[in-house]
Amino acid sequence: MTLAELSAAFSEMRLPKYRAEQVYRWAQQRGASSFSEMTDLPLELRTALSERFELRSAELLRRRDSKLDATKKYLFALSDGETVESVLMEYKHGFSQCLSTQVGCKMGCTFCATGQSGFSRDLLPGEMIAQIQSAERDAGVRVGHIVLMGMGEPLDNFGNVLRFLELVSDEKGVGIGMRHISLSTCGLADKIYALAEKKLQLTLSVSLHAPNDEIRSRTMPVNRRCGVEPLLESCRYYAQTTNRRISFEYAMIGGVNDSDACAKELGRRLSGMLCHVNLIPVNDVTGTGYRRSGPERIKRFTEILEHRGIPVTVRRTLGADIEASCGQLRRHSQKGGT
Ligand code: SAH
Ligand code: SF4
Repeated sequence: MTLAELSAAFSEMRLPKYRAEQVYRWAQQRGASSFSEMTDLPLELRTALSERFELRSAELLRRRDSKLDATKKYLFALSDGETVESVLMEYKHGFSQCLSTQVGCKMGCTFCATGQSGFSRDLLPGEMIAQIQSAERDAGVRVGHIVLMGMGEPLDNFGNVLRFLELVSDEKGVGIGMRHISLSTCGLADKIYALAEKKLQLTLSVSLHAPNDEIRSRTMPVNRRCGVEPLLESCRYYAQTTNRRISFEYAMIGGVNDSDACAKELGRRLSGMLCHVNLIPVNDVTGTGYRRSGPERIKRFTEILEHRGIPVTVRRTLGADIEASCGQLRRHSQKGGT
């Protein structure tokens, strides 16, 4: 709830406004996961509140710390026992956290550990916020940036994700501004149009991963519903409407999507769009049979795109030793691995 909504509910219960402010601070800033923690409230009020309201939590189940960098990978348990992953990363500009938006995913991308594990349910806005609070408490740091790039397809959980964005960016609460948030999608075009209308200042990342329908439909089944051209059309509309640069994610898979011809085709399609391409050496996920492209191939791919005037970055790998790409830790713990 926003502070305004909580205040309205409290006034209905004939409680003073400062109580709403107190509870809001506990829930949003201090990350309380139960009313009993709110020790500056009278006991009977805590009981009354726990009968009427529910606090969402993400309980720390497992953590893996990278030995190579400061990356921490979390497995959180939700109130019904479902589990989701989240990754905390340290950059020069501060801490950035990758959050899950669903338990599993329906989209079935062939290179993705989450996509290979099926779908259980959507996450509620409070369960997305709780991931931040649990990580902050565990690591003793403040998260400054969020990427919705964990388990799940954020635009397939549109209402809850929009609500989360509203709550998390509230200055009186967690207070992470839209300019510090990225949302990654596999490309649900109808939802990209709908998101454009909201004119949010967040960064939209689109997981393209292929320059044409033939390759994309093989690796990303969602492409059979909406092909590359209609998807790019929705992206052009998004960039024009919001005046925000789109970031195209492109996982480099050896022998699948990393040829010179692929780079040229991609360059042709993206030319003239307000965008940027982020090349990601694909992470090895057991059972997929994919391998990452070598540095020479990535360099050549970059040059071809840059030659066409498209800005390119190559993603630095963090947490390589702790299987930090989402879905991997949960899959292991379900199989009973370590
Ligand atoms: N469902 C959303 C966000 C979660 S996936 C989406 O697909 O965009 C976050 C990112 O991780 C996506 O760009 C996805 O394509 C990428 N990804 C998934 N598996 C990967 C792997 N094995 N190696 C590299 N990137 C991967
Ligand atoms: Fe879902 Fe994204 Fe994984 Fe595809 S890459 S299966 S959309 S989480």
